[in-house]
Amino acid sequence: MRQVDLFVIGAGSGGVRAARIAAGHGASVMIAEEDRIGGTCVIRGCVPKKLYVYASRLGDDIADAASFGWQVGPARFDWPTLRDAVAAEVTRLSGLYRKGLDGAGVAIVEDRAVVTAPGTVRLSRSGESIKARHILIATGGHPVLEPVIPGGQLGITSNEVFHMPVLPARMVVVGGGYIALEFACVFARLGVKVTLVHRGDNVLRGFDEDIRTRLRDALALGGITLALGRTITRMDELAGGVRQVSLSDGSVTEAEVVLVATGRRANTGGLGLDSIGVALNADGSVRVDAASATNVPGVHAVGDVTNRVNLTPVAIREGHAFADSVFGGKPWTVSHSPIATAVFTTPEIGTIGISEQEALAAGYQLRIFDTQFRAMRATMTGREDRTYMKLVVDAGTDRVLGAHMLGPDAGEIIQSLGVAITMGATKADFDRTMALHPSAAEEFVTMRSPRKG
Ligand code: FAD
Ligand code: NDP
Repeated sequence: MRQVDLFVIGAGSGGVRAARIAAGHGASVMIAEEDRIGGTCVIRGCVPKKLYVYASRLGDDIADAASFGWQVGPARFDWPTLRDAVAAEVTRLSGLYRKGLDGAGVAIVEDRAVVTAPGTVRLSRSGESIKARHILIATGGHPVLEPVIPGGQLGITSNEVFHMPVLPARMVVVGGGYIALEFACVFARLGVKVTLVHRGDNVLRGFDEDIRTRLRDALALGGITLALGRTITRMDELAGGVRQVSLSDGSVTEAEVVLVATGRRANTGGLGLDSIGVALNADGSVRVDAASATNVPGVHAVGDVTNRVNLTPVAIREGHAFADSVFGGKPWTVSHSPIATAVFTTPEIGTIGISEQEALAAGYQLRIFDTQFRAMRATMTGREDRTYMKLVVDAGTDRVLGAHMLGPDAGEIIQSLGVAITMGATKADFDRTMALHPSAAEEFVTMRSPRKG
């Protein structure tokens, strides 16, 4: 039986990083991937999604060009061109991931792996068993088609949305989280008539209320029909493949495509974890400690399969910390707070730290600074969009607990601000930072008077 120091199950963000770093520390490493090297982020997540976001925003750029003196002909969007170009880029990136693993000396097996006994993994297609001193579960998650309703299987998930043969005229998007909102914005801007159905009265539960409300208004302004406080109750197929979607308020709507984006579940089914007694959480994710160790010695888990914070940079860092700790003699753990995150809607959200509501619930006395303005570019184009920025400050220590933004480049701006906030910057630090003019980001260092506190 072949034997390795580390067997990684899943070649996504977390697994690939862990494999490369462990190999760099001198471990013999094998990684199994049942689908395509790169995982969710590269193949059917962040990367192709962000390329679609760029495509979706170009329509506004073309329309705005005339205000700046450019004469451009009538614009026409071609879906197969975008879809196929993005697919080609995904293939290129997947190849780079493979090259990186090869270069690090990691053995790649393109097969499904399941755990069969302590320290033993079996490859499903080849039937080969491998002995491993350590096993890393990095199998990610998958989208769910929920709620379970009659005809529910007529919906598609984010996995399929990247391969639609034709751009639908109408699309119903179900959900009010990252994926639902990002795709609703993308497809609305590519010319699809989008209806967003969400069970809550507002989108993005857990985000700062000022951001949520402004985004909701912006979605409507961007042409998306909002069906909030409602759920889907059944789906039927009509002639020509049209989906008839019934809602909980008794209304009925039709669309060529129904995209269900109501969450994701950890890939632990059929993985054999029960055979060695790995404890799972109630939602099926792997239970781990701060060092990503499971309850079974020699078995760790990183990334979405642990359902801690389901973001690519988090999975990567968890994989890196695991490899350094177990194979590099340099133990460290990942801090899961603060974490900067963006929602690539249009307008975009960037946020780091806690919301005003979370801070109040935690008992802080707050000073709230915020500003809303029309971006300089919009003064020429006449667009109504407003940029919004907010700082949540602990009145006791002057420390900035959270920074939130809705507007162009919010993700880029918040990433940089994240350094200051991770270092524990105070509002006074923001105040003594010289503005960079003219920019939108300068507003974060020029807010003088608190709106509250
Ligand atoms: P994954 O990347 O999912 O990798 C797991 C791999 O394991 C998969 O390739 C799978 O095929 C393989 N696998 C599973 N079981 C087995 C088995 N038994 N044997 C062999 N292989 C197996 N995050 C961001 O930070 N920014 C974004 O903009 C962003 N956008 C997203 C957009 C979408 C549409 C989606 C769905 C997700 C997005 N995410 C984003 C989240 C991000 O993709 C995930 O957090 C990240 O990919 C998790 O990495 P992972 O290594 O845990 O799992
Ligand atoms: P989310 O958990 O973000 O959102 C799920 C949405 O579906 C919520 O609005 C939720 O409503 C709703 N929902 C859940 N169950 C049901 C149900 N049974 N019926 C009706 N509605 C339901 O999941 P996503 O799938 O959007 O994204 C998964 C994760 O992937 C994200 O949380 C994020 O970590 C990551 N991601 C990150 C991105 C980024 O960084 N830009 C982009 C895309 C994904 P409610 O709020 O009421 O619970």
